[in-house]
Amino acid sequence: MPFTFVEIEEHKTRKLVLLFAVLVLLYIVSIIALVWGSRLILGIERQPSLGEAFSLVCIAVIIAALHWAVSTYRLVDRVLTAILAKPLDPTDTYHQRLKNIIEEVSVATGGRYQIEPYVMPTVAMNACAVADFSGRAAIAVTEGCLARLNRAQLEGVIGHEAAHIASGDSLSRSVFCGLFELHEEALKRLTGVFSDSAGRRVTIRGRGGALILFVMAVLWVTNTAKRLAELCVSREQEYRADATAVRLTRNPLGLAEALRLIETHWRGIGTDGDSLSTIFILDPGAQYLSEQDGFFADWFSTHPPTHRRIDALLGMAHLSIANFNEMMALHHGKRARQLPPDKPGEVPSRRWSVWLDGTWRGPLTLEQLAGLESLTPESWLRPDGEQAVKPASHEPSVLAVLQRRYGHAGQAPQPGKTECPNCRLQLTQVLYEGVPLDACPACRGCYVMPDQVSRILAREEYAFSDRIKRLAATMPTLSVAGRITKRFNAWPGNRMQHRQCPKCGSGVVRKFFTNQYLIEVEQCWVCGLAWFDKDELELLQYLYEEAKAKGQSTFLEPA
Ligand SMILES: [Zn+2]
Ligand SMILES: [Zn+2]
Repeated sequence: MPFTFVEIEEHKTRKLVLLFAVLVLLYIVSIIALVWGSRLILGIERQPSLGEAFSLVCIAVIIAALHWAVSTYRLVDRVLTAILAKPLDPTDTYHQRLKNIIEEVSVATGGRYQIEPYVMPTVAMNACAVADFSGRAAIAVTEGCLARLNRAQLEGVIGHEAAHIASGDSLSRSVFCGLFELHEEALKRLTGVFSDSAGRRVTIRGRGGALILFVMAVLWVTNTAKRLAELCVSREQEYRADATAVRLTRNPLGLAEALRLIETHWRGIGTDGDSLSTIFILDPGAQYLSEQDGFFADWFSTHPPTHRRIDALLGMAHLSIANFNEMMALHHGKRARQLPPDKPGEVPSRRWSVWLDGTWRGPLTLEQLAGLESLTPESWLRPDGEQAVKPASHEPSVLAVLQRRYGHAGQAPQPGKTECPNCRLQLTQVLYEGVPLDACPACRGCYVMPDQVSRILAREEYAFSDRIKRLAATMPTLSVAGRITKRFNAWPGNRMQHRQCPKCGSGVVRKFFTNQYLIEVEQCWVCGLAWFDKDELELLQYLYEEAKAKGQSTFLEPA
């Protein structure tokens, strides 16, 4: 990667010149179309002279320069406003953690930039970086990320964003965003007509109709230009920023875990700012193209497929690709019993290194592993003598140890008994607010039928954690939530290919549970059995009780 100061500057200038050239080209083409059109209408036959052609080009350059000047003026402020970012609250511990990490990471990148920290008050999972010509740079992270990511994961995300800023990618991306995406966003908001591209019909009538037609024309032009200009925002930058983040944090696993968590959550599609995809760590709009491989996608998409980025990161943790694919397949819910069982007699001699608190410990024997309090089914293990990394739950003998710890003493895993989709432990029946549920003893997620949800909600709970309260505080109004849930639930990428409902065997989709609140579940589309992560069910309870206390309607509309 080009990373001396001079190289960065050259690289940056090249990108910016390219962007300006695209802009000039856009206006030349538009002016030619305009002139040609009016000549046809007015019936002018005379060929334009060279001088006239030259002045047209000059006009195009001037308009482009104006567009550029307007678009890059106070860019950081304008982008932050568009994504509704807020300054940190000095009394908030989560915000202070973010501030500390950003300070540490910006020192590690050489300290050329004073990176300003911001939060986006939404339960979505995403983060972005912006920079402008005045030398300002900012990183904004959503409340959803602050509440759900641990320190190592958050460091990975910040490292990635700081790498974009230090390499100058952030500047060209922000300019790109200012030239094209900000206008798109403003127009969308001005007219309100494109807030849900899926479905709502636009009636074109009278003066309002003319405005809508005009807006559509402008959107079409900027969109076309945007596609062209996206050629300058290459996918390679994402891989490079991931690699730099690993160098800064010395922890590829933290960023890999963070990407996976962000990927499997709602990233902000349907909210204000979702057309500003270039500056985000993962595309909020979940564009189809972003998750594709191949020539066309490589050229015209700003983000590489997330699985390829995780590939690269796990490779840095000495994980072979074959092993990783196997692991991902397992993560998507293939059963433990499909793994070849360990040969008896071989087990006591095996040893593993375990990734705990940011370092590899070991190699340890099974007994030593069993003695580690902090070992969870999701801890990373590396079998001694191998380069591969896998979660503890994918090592049958270690999983058995964990099963014992969580109260399945002496039980061999019973085939057919439901497992946790996250950590593969056998679920135990617990009484949750008096309702019997299959819950995971480690991650505390659980399977709930829709009628059980209403029973749980009817019983009051008082002790809610700080995390739950802060996630609840970011819930949008009912009408905004309705718009978001509709768009997210309609997205085809939510279908979980490798998962089956444990109750009826039908397909499972990722979706929001109700139209009113942004509570994510994995739900069977036939019988309605829903898997709630621990936070999500508590969040629903909290919101329900809040609504009840305020005397609002507590009826949950199924989404
Ligand atoms: Zn679990
Ligand atoms: Zn089902």
